Amino acid sequence: MTSITIIGGGVSGLFSAYYLQKAGCQVTIIEQGTFEDGCSFGNAGMIVPSHIVPLAQPGMIAKGLQWMLKSTSPFYVKPRLSWDLMRWGMLFWKHSTEQHVQRSIPVLRDISLLSKKLFQDLAASQEIDFGWHERGLLMLYKNADTEHEMAEEAHLANGAGIVADILTAQQVQDLEPQVRVDVKGAVYYPGDAHITPNLLVKNLVSYLKKRGVWIHENQEVIAFEKQGNKIMAVQTKNTSGERSIFKTETAELVIAAGAWSPVLTEKLGISLPLQGGKGYSFMVKNIAQNIQVPAIMLEARATATPMGTDLRFAGTLEVAGTDMTINMNRVRGIVQGINRYYPDMEVALPEKEKVWRGLRPCSPDGLPYIGRVKSFENVTLATGHGMMGVSLGPATGKLVAELILGAKTSMDIQDFNPLRFG
Ligand SMILES: Cc1cc2nc3c(=O)[nH]c(=O)nc-3n(C[C@H](O)[C@H](O)[C@H](O)COP(=O)(O)OP(=O)(O)OC[C@H]3O[C@@H](n4cnc5c(N)ncnc54)[C@H](O)[C@@H]3O)c2cc1C
Repeated sequence: MTSITIIGGGVSGLFSAYYLQKAGCQVTIIEQGTFEDGCSFGNAGMIVPSHIVPLAQPGMIAKGLQWMLKSTSPFYVKPRLSWDLMRWGMLFWKHSTEQHVQRSIPVLRDISLLSKKLFQDLAASQEIDFGWHERGLLMLYKNADTEHEMAEEAHLANGAGIVADILTAQQVQDLEPQVRVDVKGAVYYPGDAHITPNLLVKNLVSYLKKRGVWIHENQEVIAFEKQGNKIMAVQTKNTSGERSIFKTETAELVIAAGAWSPVLTEKLGISLPLQGGKGYSFMVKNIAQNIQVPAIMLEARATATPMGTDLRFAGTLEVAGTDMTINMNRVRGIVQGINRYYPDMEVALPEKEKVWRGLRPCSPDGLPYIGRVKSFENVTLATGHGMMGVSLGPATGKLVAELILGAKTSMDIQDFNPLRFG
């Protein structure tokens, strides 16, 4: 039985464990915190085959610079003297081209559709409850410029085989019978879906435990033991107070450590361009009149996702490395945005303790890193999914398992090569 060690207990690590365990491997997951600490727990839970245009796209740098001037704006780069940040920024700029967008569209579409199918299979199997709903996604806009941009994106999506319908304000309201929506219109993506991410993580963890996956929380991987071009073992340090160090021997290693992945790859001599894109979310509980369809409030760059009788709001992207502090000005920006789109909801600024934050692992070209690392014969990377890590979780896990088992991958993954930037 092949022994596999996975670093990171977010969706990328958990789904890798799910498919590897099913294939008969003995899997160990090592998580430096608890399973609630990563980006996979409190996010917006949208499953988005609609997102076929990468963040690195023409005009994004200009928009970002404009937004950066406002403390409540949805996009921010924390100024730092950092070579990694400069390199990441240069690569982002280099990929903000029409040519890159055109090249990425079919790749992002294919991995998203593969992942959605795997989510559907998982929901049908009833192995795990994760709040699966297929009600689509509304991209809400309030002004003519955004309407124009969205019409172009809808055209691109339809051309790529992803259905996108342009709706009037009244058609949007018809989809939301319980809540008043104040918009100019929307693009509706009926093929999108949503889940409750904390339920997914919690239930996936207990499912894996029951099937014999060894799970270690509060253990931070601090070093690797190598022999030639093979990793033989990982050393960890207990992060819950005691300072014991222990060692796990392994035949295969998967690095799925989210925004912290570059810290680990550096120990292997691999410089991985990746920045944490910090975002916030908070929950409004027990809503009598809830929204029905998840929505992105485009000008506010905020999202709303119904989760049972609760409603989760999320937003902002601060390129912040691994800084986890909460900036309430950004949260205030989200709240102000919401009240312009759903004026009757009167959402209040949550207390700081009720705000969740997570670091999206952002690659500079908007494509994930999924693949083997040439310099080592037993190391696979699974990270860099940015704003789409939950959506792409099952596909990532399946592709990782196929790579490790030496099977034909479900899709061509050369664009996800972790070493594509050298
Ligand atoms: C506000 C917000 C909203 C979002 N909404 C959506 C959405 O609607 N749809 C969507 O698809 N995506 C969304 N995302 C993005 C998504 O949450 C991420 O892309 C995804 O969770 C990344 O998963 P991961 O497993 O790669 O990383 P993580 O979930 O961050 O997991 C990595 C884990 O590795 C652990 N780790 C790191 N270093 C070590 C070490 N040395 N030793 C041991 N463990 C280590 C970390 O503690 C962490 O738990 C959103 C993100 C944010 C912030």
